[in-house]
Amino acid sequence: MNIDIAAAPEESPETAAKRLIATKRRRRARRQFLFGFLLTAIFISWMVNDFLAPDVNSVSLSAKPAPSAPEINFDRRDMVPMQRRSSEDQLKKGDSLAALLARNGVAAGEAQAALDSLKTEFDARNLQPGQKVRVFRAWPPEDDAKLSEGQFAGFDLIPEPRQKVIVQRLDDGRFETTRQNRPLNEKYFVADTLITSSVYEAARSSGVAPNLVADLIRLFSFSVDFQRDIREGDQLEVLYTRRFDQNNQLAEEGEIIFVALTNRGQRLAYWLHNQDDEERHYYDEQGRSVQRLLMRTPVDGARLSSRYGMRRHPILGYTRLHRGLDFAAPVGTPIYAAGDGQVIKIGRYGDSGLYIKLRHNDRFETAYAHMNGFAKGLKKGDKVKQGQVIGYVGRTGLATGPHLHYEVLQGNMPVNPRSLNLPPRQELSAQQLAAFETTRTQAAKRIGTLASRNNSLTSLPR
Ligand SMILES: [Zn+2]
Repeated sequence: MNIDIAAAPEESPETAAKRLIATKRRRRARRQFLFGFLLTAIFISWMVNDFLAPDVNSVSLSAKPAPSAPEINFDRRDMVPMQRRSSEDQLKKGDSLAALLARNGVAAGEAQAALDSLKTEFDARNLQPGQKVRVFRAWPPEDDAKLSEGQFAGFDLIPEPRQKVIVQRLDDGRFETTRQNRPLNEKYFVADTLITSSVYEAARSSGVAPNLVADLIRLFSFSVDFQRDIREGDQLEVLYTRRFDQNNQLAEEGEIIFVALTNRGQRLAYWLHNQDDEERHYYDEQGRSVQRLLMRTPVDGARLSSRYGMRRHPILGYTRLHRGLDFAAPVGTPIYAAGDGQVIKIGRYGDSGLYIKLRHNDRFETAYAHMNGFAKGLKKGDKVKQGQVIGYVGRTGLATGPHLHYEVLQGNMPVNPRSLNLPPRQELSAQQLAAFETTRTQAAKRIGTLASRNNSLTSLPR
């Protein structure tokens, strides 16, 4: 300081006064700017809290924003407190963890030591492109983190929603890998929307995740023809869950708890219900399962290539009754059991080629022909579940190309699977209906609570 004063050139009192005023002005401007900045910051954080919070369940919303992701936990060791920082990266297609670490400035030797440690606990070969990885660096407290690169302190990743894998450098320089369970909180959300173009659009634009929209469409596909039946102004209501980690970050999508579609004035509603600790299924208001006794199309991604009825046979050349439906699909496409039942025929049967017949109850049987092969180990007398793979599409027997010939027999007579009004797969008994009533009441309460909060659902992350 002394040196500065001594070095400063002499100045007149006039200049000195001017300089003093200028300094004062600068200080005032700085104060005003700081004050303005502070007000803006407070306003922005208030906005973020009130309008952009990713959760409509405001009960669990605190006044503070969610804390940022936690740093690696070093508490259990006596260590010099270090400054830590993480940078996030993700695996690209054809990428490896080694490449990712190199890209983030980790020296080859250190990266290898960390990966060797990881190998003892976790198989990184199954990681998918898009997997996020946080790479940590540490600095001694007195260092300026802007000036030096710091030391590679490890990395962590969340390979599945309920699990975290942490690789951290110990104070002796070695690396240690630990796995942590991540407890997740389930939260409920509602969407209540009018359909303007399609069910898919309506559900997506009110924040329902794509996988849940697919579930929802599958649920209604037993009773609604989406291409024909949906009208503008139909209403869709959904109660669904999402799971959050302890930092209030979305960890995974949950499931549909309740869904209702009011289609041309008629309301179809389904509830997810756990019956006797068995699988959970969806039931309608009367306790009938959404799933019907038989699936309409026992093969995925197939094209209906020949309908039921009289037709000229493509190979035999004369007209006869086509006793079933033909679904064209590539060789090897899985074929599902259309309903719960028992295998009563399995083998090679002349023109039908490799063939399976299932008995579902005392009224219905289904048959599958021209298969390429059967599900491994499947034999006569075996019990099968609806949707279980029983074989694969082929062109064995009398067939012009790979397809599934599918027949439904009622009392041993072929019937048109398309025009059948199939009974539900399961109906709840009077006693089971009491438990189902509880499920429905709970769903109604949740919807009531969420709806009364009057939250804007459009701000949900998509
Ligand atoms: Zn056929």
